[in-house]
Amino acid sequence: MNLKQQINILVKLQALDSQIYELNFEKKGIPVELNLLKQEYERKEEEVKQAEQKVKNKQLESKKMEGDLKSKEETIKKQQGQLYQIKTNKEYDSLEKEIKNLKADISLLEEKIIGLLDEVEQENKIFLQEKQNLDKKRQDLQKKEEIGNNRSQEIKQQIEELAQKKKPFASTIEPLLLSQYERILIKKEGKAITGVKDGACEECRFMLTPQIIEEIKMGEELIFCNSCSRILYEAVNS
Ligand SMILES: [Zn+2]
Repeated sequence: MNLKQQINILVKLQALDSQIYELNFEKKGIPVELNLLKQEYERKEEEVKQAEQKVKNKQLESKKMEGDLKSKEETIKKQQGQLYQIKTNKEYDSLEKEIKNLKADISLLEEKIIGLLDEVEQENKIFLQEKQNLDKKRQDLQKKEEIGNNRSQEIKQQIEELAQKKKPFASTIEPLLLSQYERILIKKEGKAITGVKDGACEECRFMLTPQIIEEIKMGEELIFCNSCSRILYEAVNS
C-alpha cells in the first residue's frame, strides 16, 4: 500500500480518534463537575449545622435565664417570710429594698427571656426551611451522581466500541507511520492529521506555500504543518 493510500486510512482513523478524544474529554469533566456540586452541598450542610447550633445555644441560654429567674423568685419568697420576723425599721427597710431590687431584676429577666424565645422561634423557622432545602439538594446531588456515573459507563463502552472499529484500519498502516501518528495525536489534543483548506492548514490556519500544497497532492512523502506539526493531507476542495 502506498503512502497516499495509507494517509487516506489515517484520515479514517482520525475520525474515530476524534470521537474518542471528545468522549474522553466529556468523561474527565464528569467527576470534576460532580466534585464541585458536592463541595457546594457540603458548604450548605455546614451552614445548616451552624444555624441549628445557634438555635440550640439560644435555647440553652433561655433555660439558664429561667433557672436564674426561679432562684430569684425563691429568694424573694424567703425574704418576704423574713420581713415578719424583723425587729427594727432600719432592717425592715433594707430588706424591703432588696426585695424591690430583686423584683426589678425578675421583670428584666422576663423581658429578656421573651425576647430570646422570639428569636429562637424565628431562627428555628429559618433553620427548618434551610434543612428542607438541604434535603432537596442532597437528592439532586444523588440524582446527578447517578446520571454522571451512568454516562461515564456509557462513554467507556462507546470508547471500547470505537477502539474495536479502529483495529482493521490501524493494522493496515505501517507501524512506523502509525506510531508517528499516535505520538502527534497525544501531543496535539487528539488531532494528528488535518486537511488543507483555502491554502492553509485547516487546524491552525497557517498559510502553506503552493509548493507544499503540490507536495501534499503528490503524496509521495509525509508533509507536516510548519506551525502546528500535524500531518497534512489533501482534503476535498483544498
Ligand atoms: Zn497547522
